[in-house]
Amino acid sequence: MPQQADCVFCKIVAGQIPSAKVFEDDACIAFLDIGPLADAHLLIVPKEHYERITDMPALEFAAVTLRIPQLARAVMEVSGAEGLNVLQNNGQVSGQAVPHVHIHIIPRRQGDGLGYRWNAGKYPEGKLQQLQRALAGALGT
Ligand code: 5GP
Ligand code: ZN
Repeated sequence: MPQQADCVFCKIVAGQIPSAKVFEDDACIAFLDIGPLADAHLLIVPKEHYERITDMPALEFAAVTLRIPQLARAVMEVSGAEGLNVLQNNGQVSGQAVPHVHIHIIPRRQGDGLGYRWNAGKYPEGKLQQLQRALAGALGT
């Protein structure tokens, strides 16, 4: 996928707009989120432009996720956080504001007031098995 001229993360990758970059390799860059949910909130971004992970070849996404443990350890060390969330949004409905794949590393502390509505549901009789069959069919497994 080529870079996209009107994409803010493509511009950061190309160095056309500044970012507080902390890591770079052939596949990705990592920089501080400009609107942090906590100090040291990082974004990991593939260098190639893809809007969603469902658009990405698996190995290209793997090359980005490969860096998560290393970057997360640095975030933990620098922020002194007690935990972290790895968050990756796809599509406006999920909260994706920048349409270029990115992974958030968000440091967490007791009482930080973050978190999200985890409205766990309950499947009606038969629904779980129906979804299992549908997904297995989609996966050809
Ligand atoms: P999303 O809601 O798409 O998952 O997250 C997009 C994130 O990108 C937001 O947390 C926002 O603060 C961050 N962001 C948007 N524009 C810029 C920018 O120009 N520079 C940096 N460093 N972060 C940005
Ligand atoms: Zn882009």
